[in-house]
Amino acid sequence: MMRFLAIGECMAELAPSATPGDYRLGFAGDTFNTAWYLARLWPEVAVSYFTAIGSDAMSTQMLVAIQASGIDTSHVQKVPGRSVGLYLICLTNGERSFSYWRGQSAARLLADDPEALASAVAGADLIYFSGITLAILEEAGRARLLNVLKSARTAGKTIAFDPNLRPHLWSDPAQMTKAIMQGAAVSDITLPSFEDEARWFQDKDPEATADRYTKAGASTVIVKNGPDPVLHDQAGARGRIPVPPLTHIVDTTAAGDSFNAAVLAGLIFQKPLGEAVLQACQLAGQVVQGKGALVPVERLP
Ligand code: AMP
Repeated sequence: MMRFLAIGECMAELAPSATPGDYRLGFAGDTFNTAWYLARLWPEVAVSYFTAIGSDAMSTQMLVAIQASGIDTSHVQKVPGRSVGLYLICLTNGERSFSYWRGQSAARLLADDPEALASAVAGADLIYFSGITLAILEEAGRARLLNVLKSARTAGKTIAFDPNLRPHLWSDPAQMTKAIMQGAAVSDITLPSFEDEARWFQDKDPEATADRYTKAGASTVIVKNGPDPVLHDQAGARGRIPVPPLTHIVDTTAAGDSFNAAVLAGLIFQKPLGEAVLQACQLAGQVVQGKGALVPVERLP
């Protein structure tokens, strides 16, 4: 059985319910969302999540929710005295905005114990992390994580990375772009979104994004671009997959995260890359037609 490990931060989510002033508690976060879709739709993959949580009741609730999604939590670290990060969704005239309380979350310390990291990574074949995973760590933790991933890659494991550029999580854009390229340098599979890449790396088109990540060392690069065609590159062979058009988009949260889950499943099952990308577009298409990060989608054909 293929063993998948995602590394990052899962947060408590408060989403407005039908009654004004009432909120519903959920759990989500970019790398976690990808793990969630993989576990839900591809039960033949062993999915594990690596993060750090606190020792309070909310942390325990999160752990139980992760386990209930069919995700292994045996490598989740516990940091006494801290708690999990939280975000709240505000609806203003139908527009969603997000407020975050994650500056002191336990997940910020997820790379503090290199042995715990190494042992989680040793039990996986495919390891997935993101630019948000890098953003929440201090410099030393980031270096520690990148070192563990580099060694894992040398040992023959596959590393997948979504740059997920979030400038507000970084002290400045230069620090962000530098760390992102360090993440890309330890990765076999890079899964960027063109809009962000164009803005922060001045890529003139998706080809330029693919060139940059190929040069950084990835053998597979897949450039998402909202409703526009997805560019895929595997060892220099390029193709473009048009995104099936949608007329009714409800909420684009986790479009990229679910896309990544389907693409990685396709690669795990050695599907032709174009086919994996099309399936990823179909899954993301279902997800943007539902509310929230975790949409209870059904298995694709
Ligand atoms: P993004 O990260 O925004 O580039 O989106 C990831 C994936 O979600 C895209 O490659 C599409 O498959 C899907 N997606 C995002 N926005 C749309 C849209 N407006 N219409 C259809 N599919 C979309």
